[in-house]
Amino acid sequence: MKAAASSGQRERLVIVGNGMVGHHCVEQLVSRGALQRFEVRVFGEERQRAYDRVHLSEYFGGSCAETLALCERDFYSTSGVHLHLGEAVLEIDRERCEVVTAEGRYGYDHLVLATGSYPFVPPIEGCSGSARLVYRTLDDLDGIRAAAAEARRGVVVGGGLLGLEAANALKSLGLGLRRLGLFTSIVLFDQRVSMWTSLLGLTVAVIASLKFGLAFLLVYLLWIGITRLILTIMLLCSGHNVGPAYPLILYYNQIIGALMKIYVFFRLDKQSWTRQPTALKRDLASFQQWFNTWSSRTMTFSAASIFVAVLFMVV
Ligand SMILES: Cc1cc2nc3c(=O)[nH]c(=O)nc-3n(C[C@H](O)[C@H](O)[C@H](O)COP(=O)(O)OP(=O)(O)OC[C@H]3O[C@@H](n4cnc5c(N)ncnc54)[C@H](O)[C@@H]3O)c2cc1C
Repeated sequence: MKAAASSGQRERLVIVGNGMVGHHCVEQLVSRGALQRFEVRVFGEERQRAYDRVHLSEYFGGSCAETLALCERDFYSTSGVHLHLGEAVLEIDRERCEVVTAEGRYGYDHLVLATGSYPFVPPIEGCSGSARLVYRTLDDLDGIRAAAAEARRGVVVGGGLLGLEAANALKSLGLGLRRLGLFTSIVLFDQRVSMWTSLLGLTVAVIASLKFGLAFLLVYLLWIGITRLILTIMLLCSGHNVGPAYPLILYYNQIIGALMKIYVFFRLDKQSWTRQPTALKRDLASFQQWFNTWSSRTMTFSAASIFVAVLFMVV
């Protein structure tokens, strides 16, 4: 969003959001000498200056806001950037090219929105106040710590990476482990077994058809077709909107899913979940690094050998 620059003066650049992106933007402006051309003003809703949100969980492991901070305390003032912390932009007046906060109105010639994202909270009844916590900011983590002090049990909704980090945080806060319910245990067991059986069935059918005749592969495909069709019909009857290609997609998903799971499962030492150009900490002691690599390789080799042995037994 851009309006005419005030002539003779530096152009006014307002950045809304002092998170990882907003801060990186300021760093780039400073390092490229752009402050000669722009008067930069940054608004951050949070009280803390930009910090490393990717390593937020370390806050429960002894880090503090200061160690997580992305810059020295005086970086903004010495660079000549106006930093407004704890001051959310409430409105953008595009007609007058001004941002509005609780403290006042600030004009801009250029506006950068680096406001990040908000966690989605499902509309669950009773999920409000201290019973509804999210895992995104340092304040959120303080809230979780305070709530945990008076709680016996915590529930994490969402089992992705952040869900796992949150669960680990609850554990470190002494909320303890509970046994998994029977259904969850069965689902997890099924996931682990099916990543092998899906592939085993297909491989046995292919080898058997090569060895004894095409009939084996045809019977296998018939079995796959009928069972996936029955599931599709059941889904249709229970009101799900599934198309005619669903049985095929289902089977394709199972095979690709099994390959993916096996691939990931045996490369745990290589995992680095990130969309940012950040590097996973690899400063492990050399023995630990060696152990991670070789235990992964041994697991892959053992599992592949068992798979081939079962194959020979069956066919
Ligand atoms: C626990 C955790 C672990 C993560 N791990 C990883 C990882 O391993 N790899 C990875 O790639 N990503 C990870 N992420 C995601 C990553 O942190 C985000 O992608 C990244 O922080 C996005 O940067 P951003 O600047 O766009 O948003 P944010 O860092 O969220 O910053 C936006 C800032 O804008 C402020 N703001 C919003 N609205 C206003 C307003 N109206 N006025 C003023 N300020 C406002 C917000 O308060 C916030 O401080 C993780 C996130 C979390 C929470």
